[in-house]
Formats: sequence, structure tokens, C-alpha cells
Amino acid sequence: MRNYFSGIVGNQKLTERLSMDIEENKIPHALIIEGDTGSGRHTVVKYFAAALSCERRNGSEALPCRKCPSCEKIFGEKSPDIIKIGLEGEKTSIGVDAVRFMKTDIFVEPNDLKYKFYIIEDAEKMTVQAQNAFLLSLEEPPPYVVFILICNNSSLLLETVRSRALTVRTERLSPQIMRDYLLTESKEAKSLFQTSGDEFEELLLSCDGSIGRALMLLNSKERKKLFSDRDIASKIISLAADRDLKKAFDILSALGQKRQEICQRLLLVQTAVRDLIVLKKCEKPELCFYTDTEKAGEISTHFTLSSLFDIYGAAAEAVDCLEKNANVRLTLLNMFIASKLL
Ligand SMILES: [Zn+2]
Repeated sequence: MRNYFSGIVGNQKLTERLSMDIEENKIPHALIIEGDTGSGRHTVVKYFAAALSCERRNGSEALPCRKCPSCEKIFGEKSPDIIKIGLEGEKTSIGVDAVRFMKTDIFVEPNDLKYKFYIIEDAEKMTVQAQNAFLLSLEEPPPYVVFILICNNSSLLLETVRSRALTVRTERLSPQIMRDYLLTESKEAKSLFQTSGDEFEELLLSCDGSIGRALMLLNSKERKKLFSDRDIASKIISLAADRDLKKAFDILSALGQKRQEICQRLLLVQTAVRDLIVLKKCEKPELCFYTDTEKAGEISTHFTLSSLFDIYGAAAEAVDCLEKNANVRLTLLNMFIASKLL
């Protein structure tokens, strides 16, 4: 079977399934692509649309060819037959208006591609009314229409929508696949690997299997921010080991005032504590925060399992409270007291 997704790293299950459908000409008229932001969902869309539209489909070369006018338009994001719908301006949901536009537009035949693709970004943000209105288009679209719903979590879509579409999922990539991809495809990654192996390893651990996130972190400004967050998380862990009141208050203010930033930092604390727990339980653990297993092993000797669970639980509760709009200072103070950092 031909692989129509040669530019997609990993994700074998998804690429095999879609390649099989393309090969057998069983084109789904609605496709849900579920996965984390930065996990390659938009790249899948481009390859899928190009595989169906490539003008060299009958040739023997690799498909999509990426050179014919149709492929060039799709990969260059210039095709009028690829229509994107999503959150507008400051809105937090996709309303019925966006869907009404599609309802009539689908009857206008494609401009120059064989198919017309409607990409609904953040599809789970469609209101219930919008999804119900969308059902009408979804039930009997013209044969040239393909709807592609991109989302983080398809379970938030109505069952009636999900049952009329094929759902595929993008996967997190293993650190080894990420490493190979970045070192062959990215000049910045190669240069970082050569100049600072440690920073490269920290980047790999922090990108959580997402190429999009890895590419973002190759930007030195973003990386600096990440390393400063990791530094705060490490300081909280060392504070738990040596308990110093002055340091505790310094770290409390270093955690900042912005909820989202504090939550990100506390999630790093949880990841670090998770590593220390795993180090106590497993002989050959796979770490998610520390790049140096030996050093992390030494840190873990300063804690009992129960004290680690206390810190983990307190950080998790603080994140939960901050997301529910609780007072920032009091929440952090409670967390520090519950983790015995104060
Ligand atoms: Zn082509």
C-alpha cells in the first residue's frame, strides 16, 4: 500500500488508515482529527487534501507530489477550495452563523481542486446549536465536499456529529523519534545539540512528544522562558529538602502573579515530583523532568514517598484553585504550607 503521508513523522496508525481509504477510494466526507495542539493535525490535513487533489495521482511517483499546481496551492495555503472556519476575534465559541455560511457555500462547486475542504478549527468549541445546524450539512453533503474537524477532545462533540465522521488521532512522539526528526530536519536543533547538549535534552523532555512545541522551543526567547520556569520548579523542590524561610518567600514572589504562568510552573513542579516518586519505585525509570538520572536519584534521597505525595497533591490542588479563579496569594500560601515548604 502506498503511503500518502511521507512528511508525517510517527503516527503510523493514522497514516495507514487514511492511506488505505485513499487507496480504496473510500473518501470519508467528514473527518475528525483529534490531538494535542502542535501534534501535527494541520500537516495531516495538508497531506490528506493533497493526496486527494494531486494532479499526478496516476503516475508512479510518491504522492502527493508537492510540485503540481494543486499540491503547491495546498501546501502554500493558497487554495480557495480549502475554507477555514474557527473562533473569530475574542469569541470563545463557534456559533450558528459560521455554520450557516457553510450550509449555503457547500453548493458552490470547487474552484480548481477536485474536492472542497471545510476545515473547522477548535471544532469542540462549536455551540450545541451550531453543531445541530451543522448536522444538516453533514448528513448529505455534495459529493465533492469534505469536512475536517480539528479538535483536542472529540468527546466534547455531540454524538450525532461524531457518528457521522471518521475519527483519527495524532499521537505523541517518543523522545527517540523526536530526537531523530529534529536532528535531521532542523538546523536550529542541530546547532543547539552541538553547542549545548544539556539544553537540547531539556527541550526534548519539555516538548511532550509534540513537534510543534519543539519547534516553538527552538526559538531562544521561548526557550529562555521555559528554562526560567524549570529553574523555579527546581528551586521549589530544593526548598522542600532544606526548608529556608527567606528562600521560600523569594520563590513565592518568583512564581509571579499571572494565573496561567503560575499554573505552568506548578505543572513543572508536579512533573519533577513525579520523577522523584518514580525514582523511588523503579530501577530504570523514564524521566520527564530531570535530564540527569543520577543527580535526580540523589535529590530523591532527601524525601520520603509520603512527603513527595504531599507536594504533588498540594501543587495539583493549587492549579485546580487557580483555574477556578481563587485568590492567587492565598492559594500559593496554602500550597506552601500544605507541602511543608513554610
Ligand atoms: Zn501533486
